[in-house]
Amino acid sequence: MSMRGPGRGFLTEAEKANAPKITKELLARVFSYLKPYWKQMTLVLCAIVISSILHLYPSILTGKIIDVGLGQKNLDALVFYIMLSLALTLGANMIGVLESYLNTWIAQHITYDMRNQMYKHLSKMSVRFFTENQQGDIVTRMTSDIGGVQQVITSTFSSILSNSITLITALVAMYRKNWILATVGIIIVPLFTIPSRKAGKTRWTLTQKSQEYNDKINSILNETMSVSGQLLVKLFGMEWFEQREYERVNKKMIDLNIKESMAGRWFRVVISTFSSIGPMLIYFIGGLLMIRYGADLTVGDVTVLVSLLSRMYGPVNSLLNIHTEWIRSMALFTRIFNYFDMPIEIENAPDALTPEKAIGNIEFKNVFFQYNPERMILKDVSFKLDAGHSIAIVGPSGSGKSTLINLIPRLYDVTDGSVLFDGIDVRKLDLSFLRNAIGVVSQDTYLFSGTIRENLMYASPFGTKDQMIEACKKANIHDFIMRQEHGYDTQVGNRGLKLSGGEKQRISIARVLLKNPSVMIFDEATASLDSISEKAIQDAIDPLITSRTSILIAHRLSTILAADEILVVKDGRIVERGKHEDLVKQGGVYTELYNTQFNPDLKKEEKE
Ligand code: ATP
Repeated sequence: MSMRGPGRGFLTEAEKANAPKITKELLARVFSYLKPYWKQMTLVLCAIVISSILHLYPSILTGKIIDVGLGQKNLDALVFYIMLSLALTLGANMIGVLESYLNTWIAQHITYDMRNQMYKHLSKMSVRFFTENQQGDIVTRMTSDIGGVQQVITSTFSSILSNSITLITALVAMYRKNWILATVGIIIVPLFTIPSRKAGKTRWTLTQKSQEYNDKINSILNETMSVSGQLLVKLFGMEWFEQREYERVNKKMIDLNIKESMAGRWFRVVISTFSSIGPMLIYFIGGLLMIRYGADLTVGDVTVLVSLLSRMYGPVNSLLNIHTEWIRSMALFTRIFNYFDMPIEIENAPDALTPEKAIGNIEFKNVFFQYNPERMILKDVSFKLDAGHSIAIVGPSGSGKSTLINLIPRLYDVTDGSVLFDGIDVRKLDLSFLRNAIGVVSQDTYLFSGTIRENLMYASPFGTKDQMIEACKKANIHDFIMRQEHGYDTQVGNRGLKLSGGEKQRISIARVLLKNPSVMIFDEATASLDSISEKAIQDAIDPLITSRTSILIAHRLSTILAADEILVVKDGRIVERGKHEDLVKQGGVYTELYNTQFNPDLKKEEKE
């Protein structure tokens, strides 16, 4: 949410409740990011001190201009003080430019460091992390939160510094002129700041409410203006409902915006009234002291005091917000650090092994697995797959088939037991070696937006064009690609939405073939394809099954028949195993599956 304007000085209830504990460790950690830039920071500090002092000087020189230049009708002195005043302002502004450049430079470099560190860290997180966290949260952490750090450095840190320095120098200068007027000034400043804070708070509450409605509008748009959302709305004929809802929220938001804008108007009235009371009081009391009590004050002195007073409003107001900004900044850092501190679940063992060559023998030894402590998903799974052979895994939906294959490339680690690759526990193998050796065609194929060629070459950035075409021919997709207007340079659309499920699967088979892994894992799509697509996929995978080590989660009889062995999984256990002819006669889980899902006669009946 935007925190510009009068709202910056207030914390929401949620922010108050979640205010971070500011510990020495936290501060040390924040400062550890600033440390590499300490030279630049020292320069910024000097620039801030010099420019704050230089900025105040013209106010003090006003006194000389009035008393010496104008009062004594001394033209030389008048010109001198005017020129000096202009030169000092120019100097202060030049230093100000240097200061903002350095500030931005430091802030950008710190966010650059943090973003890279975060991306690297997130890339190492396990799939579990990505399934358990909303994608939006991760993106927010990467963009808004780290972007916020930049704001903290360019604005919060430097505003604390420059405002404190301006305030102190202004106070010292005022007291040196006249202590009575300086004290009056100090009493006046809160008179101005307190009412304006109150007015600001009202406006801020309204802004927050309107922001809530803005979020609602965004969420309605996101949900209903997406392809799947529109399909749902259209198919259920709910256009009228969505329109009514949209209009209602939209109306609420404009009502709030009008209120907020008027509150802003009142806010400005309050500010300008109060800020004009201050100078008048100084003139009045200064005049009183000069006229009635013969105080040692000149017209110039009073003018200087008025001018210094007006320079104090800004810094005082900002410093009143410091507490809020400080809490908010620390909360920001805490959120980012929480992400950095999340343990990396699956990473290379310190003494990870990298065998010279991957053969492709796979063994599960009494494997148990759970996603969360409540439920054991895989129970005592043991099987062996020798290189060059193939296994088909079948079982009812939710029985744990995908979970089982996810353990091989270490998308998850076993809870108990072990998975061996070429006789070595996968947890002891180098991760990139292991993942290079295993190719997975998953059920829901993911294509990046880009061209077909880019998607294919993702598997083998240094592969040749001939290799790419050969892989596509094997995957039975080359002819389809060549029929497209732009051939291999056809855009696949947002996440491959322009392609059918069958086409996407064949592209992803070609992608895995280009990678040329020792073991191929194929999670057959459950979604039914038409018989032509099904045949095309079947023709693509049949030769694969016979030519390389493969594990197939099978939903089609032809896939099952092509495998050397069938494992039947139910409730996370292997309940039957063997050849089709034997299993089908057993009258167990497989027979039932066969009768309900795979039996070709049954499929024919269904189609009729
Ligand atoms: P299907 O044939 O429908 O794809 P499957 O046999 O492949 O099913 P799995 O995807 O392995 O089944 O799921 C096994 C069980 O684990 C299911 O009950 C599922 O709800 C649960 N499960 C799957 N993924 C997760 C996860 N990330 N967190 C928690 N539970 C999960």
